[in-house]
Amino acid sequence: MKSFAHVNARSVDEAIQLLTKYNGRAKLNAGGTDLIGVLKDRILPGYPEAIINIKTIPGLGTLEKGEDSVSIGALTPLVNLIESPFIEKNYPLLQEAAKTVASPQVRNMATVGGNICQDTRCWYYRYPDQIGGIIECFRKGKKGCPAVAGDNRYHAIMGAAKCYAVCPSDIAVALIALGATLTIAGAEGSRTIPLEDFYTPLGNVLAPEEMIKAIRIRKPFPSTKQTFLKFTIRKPIDFAVVSVASNITIEQRICTRARIVLGAVAPTPVRAFAAEDFLKGKELCEEIAVEAAALALAGAKPLSKNAYKIEIAKTLVKEAILSKIK
Ligand SMILES: Cc1cc2nc3c(=O)[nH]c(=O)nc-3n(C[C@H](O)[C@H](O)[C@H](O)COP(=O)(O)OP(=O)(O)OC[C@H]3O[C@@H](n4cnc5c(N)ncnc54)[C@H](O)[C@@H]3O)c2cc1C
Repeated sequence: MKSFAHVNARSVDEAIQLLTKYNGRAKLNAGGTDLIGVLKDRILPGYPEAIINIKTIPGLGTLEKGEDSVSIGALTPLVNLIESPFIEKNYPLLQEAAKTVASPQVRNMATVGGNICQDTRCWYYRYPDQIGGIIECFRKGKKGCPAVAGDNRYHAIMGAAKCYAVCPSDIAVALIALGATLTIAGAEGSRTIPLEDFYTPLGNVLAPEEMIKAIRIRKPFPSTKQTFLKFTIRKPIDFAVVSVASNITIEQRICTRARIVLGAVAPTPVRAFAAEDFLKGKELCEEIAVEAAALALAGAKPLSKNAYKIEIAKTLVKEAILSKIK
């Protein structure tokens, strides 16, 4: 690692002031489970001058339950989502997603905000500097995506224009299915955006002086069935090859609302709008679920080695639609 200044922020305002002062040359550190690896392997073209520790900010690591919603502080460790009876009762798909992330040790340290903002796991992007130098690509401000002509078995099958790395966050997939919004703090105050608008093809919408403060999820509708499914190569400790989160309301056997989100298929989590619209007004059964799954993957354009992900994604969408209604 190279040397850098390390500052313990005592408040969100102080963290924002520091981010403003360093103007893109500082990084926030929450649990550090992603950032420290990124720094050690020197995968980024520029090295931060300062690391701002935000774990020292009090009050950002709790769940605040309101009348109509819950606010999850950005520093809430993933383990707290798993151990909370409130999350289990109201947002079981979020709990299911958190359980699939990494290992107990990582989940004790990793925070919800850090999970949403974690860097991509593309093996070209993450190639360590100490073994022959970093590999350049669009995401590092250069031209080209080595995955297009290379080994792309875990890369995007839809929605990619330049970079084919997939968004690795399971928590974001779950939260988007729940319609979560982000409270973002910045130099001009706070703003709120839907989490589904957070990601961009090469990163996210955060300005250099902004940070996520909290994630808000509204109360679930009654009769809503929530499911999170994840296909991995290895059972314990593995990132998704494909994941699917579904949040479906069924009234008198008919689907009245549906949110279906695909993970690890594109540089951002993907809402399956066509499948959601198709399900509305229908009684869910195998035939309908198969048709919805086909619609969810209709826009897929696989690379040379990852067409297999389409079949996995279709199967997960079908299973998610049918689960808990059988
Ligand atoms: C072995 C292993 C297996 C893993 N498996 C999975 C998996 O299966 N699924 C999955 O989803 N993830 C997985 N991960 C990733 C893991 O979940 C993330 O490393 C973790 O959630 C990041 O949280 P953190 O608090 O440690 O973030 P940090 O490492 O502290 O930060 C990560 C990034 O987010 C930024 N950041 C942190 N907090 C904020 C904030 N509040 N506002 C703005 N920016 C912020 C940091 O500046 C940094 O760029 C795995 C990681 C490891 C090491």
